[in-house]
Amino acid sequence: MLKFFRQRTPVVLPEKPSPSPFTFLKNLVNSLTDGVLAVDGNRRILLANPAVSTLLNQPSTEAIGKPVWEVLRHRELGELLDRVFQSGQGEGKELSFGPEPRLYDVRASPLPEGNEAGVVLTFHDVTPLRRLENLRKDFVANVSHELKTPLTALRAALETLLDGALEDPKHARDFLQTAQDQTERLQRLIEDLLTLSRLEHPNAPQTPASCILQEVSQRVIKALNPIAKKDQILFTTQFPTSPLVVALNADELTQILFNLLDNAIKFNRNDGRVTLRGNQTGDQTVIEVEDTGVGIPPEDQSRVFERFYRVDKARTRERGGTGLGLAIVKHLIENRGGTVAVSSAPDKGTTFTIHLPSANRARSPFHP
Ligand code: ADP
Repeated sequence: MLKFFRQRTPVVLPEKPSPSPFTFLKNLVNSLTDGVLAVDGNRRILLANPAVSTLLNQPSTEAIGKPVWEVLRHRELGELLDRVFQSGQGEGKELSFGPEPRLYDVRASPLPEGNEAGVVLTFHDVTPLRRLENLRKDFVANVSHELKTPLTALRAALETLLDGALEDPKHARDFLQTAQDQTERLQRLIEDLLTLSRLEHPNAPQTPASCILQEVSQRVIKALNPIAKKDQILFTTQFPTSPLVVALNADELTQILFNLLDNAIKFNRNDGRVTLRGNQTGDQTVIEVEDTGVGIPPEDQSRVFERFYRVDKARTRERGGTGLGLAIVKHLIENRGGTVAVSSAPDKGTTFTIHLPSANRARSPFHP
């Protein structure tokens, strides 16, 4: 192994290297977060740093001297090594390893000239990067689809009007109404997208905030009451007698309550109930929104906070949902150091529970 290092291009060492160059290089390779594996012409392992241990399923030190195929059985890796040994040219490939596959960018480079052939392999874990890329691609595809649906309906309504329906007063109004509904849906979608993007990339650190739950909820319930009345849904509130100060600003709490209460109406049954509770327990503020609606199947409960995730796509679109409401709620609450959880039983109802640090605690310099 010492020979291997001597053959390498000289490395600039610190002025006063207390350890020997060999120890220095060994420490350097061992401290890398990327896996490094060097094999000789017989495919025996010359060097393996600790980062490669997870791939080898054994401590890297135990792999030294073993044939590479014995500790890392991988057809494509073997083929990559063969090609680099034959051509003497470096090559890279993305390969997947392990039972719960992780993706690595594997680079194979021939060790420099000399009688002893050898190849050094580096393994860079690109799993999180690819996961993010996939999320981004899915998001773009979802947004395009969500924008396209109302645009198609809007265009169809306008075309029908231009094709003659405009002169038919009985039907013209319906088409204009469709055009207006779809325009409003587009606007809601764009507003929600902008809100999410703002929440995901806050420009400034959050300044402490507070508002009074009873005041904000009164305004939100008043705004939603006409919709609730249509389905004969009854709102009930359970609050302490004294004003409950919440560590959110009034806009944030309005948006949270509006989304949760709107869903509680939308996914309720006729003659259903919606209960909003607020409480102070220890150093936490707890807010609950409970409904008597269709409920959420257990397998969907953990996913409803994802962007565009809907349990019943037809129903939510028909009621004008953007599929972003709960993602916004979660961001707003987590940005203030809180949590939101859902519990639900199909056909019985759903409860969303919010925990927030109490307003006094959130304002303290020790809990920014
Ligand atoms: P939207 O309501 O616009 O579809 P949300 O992000 O607010 O989007 O909700 C995501 C999904 O979670 C909804 O489509 C619905 O399937 C489910 N959901 C949310 N709230 C409730 C509720 N109170 N009862 C039943 N299902 C709900």
